[in-house]
Amino acid sequence: MIRTRFAPSPTGFMHVGNLKMAITDYLISKQSGGQFLLRVEDTDRTRMVEGAVENLLHTLNWVGIIPDEGVKLGQDGKVVQVGDKGPYIQSERLEIYHKYVDELLGKGHAYYCFCSKERLEEVRKKQEENKQATGYDGHCRDIILADAKKRIEAGEGAVVRMRTPKEGVTKFNDLIRGEVVFENKLVDDQVILKSDGFPTYHLAVVVDDHLMEITHVIRGDEWMSSTPKHLVLYEMFGWQPPLFAHLPLLLNPDKSKLSKRQGDVAVEDYIKKGYLPEAIINFIAFLGWNPGDERELFSLEELIKEFSLEKVTKSGAVFNLEKLDWYNKEYLKRMDNEELAGICRSLMMEKYGITNYELGIMGKILALEKERATTLIELVENVKFVFELPNYDSSILIWKKSNLEEAKNILQGLINSLDTFSVQDWDKTTLEQKVGEWIKEKGFGNGNVLSPLRVALSGQQNSPGPFEIAEVLGKEETINRLQTAIKKIT
Ligand code: GLU
Repeated sequence: MIRTRFAPSPTGFMHVGNLKMAITDYLISKQSGGQFLLRVEDTDRTRMVEGAVENLLHTLNWVGIIPDEGVKLGQDGKVVQVGDKGPYIQSERLEIYHKYVDELLGKGHAYYCFCSKERLEEVRKKQEENKQATGYDGHCRDIILADAKKRIEAGEGAVVRMRTPKEGVTKFNDLIRGEVVFENKLVDDQVILKSDGFPTYHLAVVVDDHLMEITHVIRGDEWMSSTPKHLVLYEMFGWQPPLFAHLPLLLNPDKSKLSKRQGDVAVEDYIKKGYLPEAIINFIAFLGWNPGDERELFSLEELIKEFSLEKVTKSGAVFNLEKLDWYNKEYLKRMDNEELAGICRSLMMEKYGITNYELGIMGKILALEKERATTLIELVENVKFVFELPNYDSSILIWKKSNLEEAKNILQGLINSLDTFSVQDWDKTTLEQKVGEWIKEKGFGNGNVLSPLRVALSGQQNSPGPFEIAEVLGKEETINRLQTAIKKIT
């Protein structure tokens, strides 16, 4: 059974690249009926942001990617930890890391390093000047452990570094990229325990993935260069490493790396802009993957069935926002009206100050524009004319070769006719049928009637059909708006 983990560092917001990792980890574990864990990697205390864990969890909940184990949101919306391999927050696991660091020190696989920041800086500068690969120069590598301990007892500060073998190669079979080989002499003597007593990412990730029985480590390509360090650590501990898959980087349309600065990369921003979770999941799953045929719309369930790491591209995946818009439009069009009303409820209340609309009516209002809008924000904005008739110029009431006088007569005729309709039958089908009969009876052209009617009801040149609008406006407001149009003409 596959166990995967999403291991975010709580640094503020969720980057779309992180969501891609989370989705992929989730899909791969679910395919085998396995577990998806969430572990919080907060060992870099300088990058911590208050509330970031809650934020991450809310975002994951919103897209429907719920961890089975580890850190998650409890019933009351508070952060909880679930599972028997915890704690799942690294800052709560310091004792565990210290034990494993001691083991490596004892076996000679790690050593204390007393080098000052200044010295390390100096070494790096020289290496750069000589065009050498940068990395630790091994200055403290041969200090005997007993001597190092004496220096520490005497008050000297130190970090612990892994004693990386300098010969041979480290190889592994990446599930996306195939065989990857690193020369050990290029693998740095990485710090594994910092002077503040916190482990570095490299030690913590290996210890935790092992103890939490992770079978597949699926993460972004930017972690590829860390993988040989991790494999060396697995070897030192004598542990079986998990399988690795490195997902392609996300790129801007100009093929540069998608960074924090270029465009919007925070998932939260897309939520705020009114994208649907279905669209975001589908769009992100399709960055660097497709099922190999024409199909593009996949629910989370369908993705679980069909997603496969073998079909993930090796090259970077372009983050194309037009495609996200396309997905959102498709999902908006297909969404049930009442469900849509439920989602837009608070946006509608906020924007139009409405308090007691039934979902049925609100759904009908939103249905007026749901085929045309790209985002929820745009949709809610586009139905504004229902709540507030926009000011418009009477010239747009004129249909083709017609004139204002004719428009006025037709509108007046419509008022007289609509006035006789009962409020009970005020639905778009009956209205369409009855007004159709009236048009025939009077011998008017359809456009000559329907166009000014549509404009009078919406105040817009381009708008949904007149009968749909009339239904949501109700009889009284429909007639009011026709009267307003007539007043504009006279
Ligand atoms: N904590 C790392 C991050 O912030 C996790 C990398 C990994 O998955 O190993 O993305």
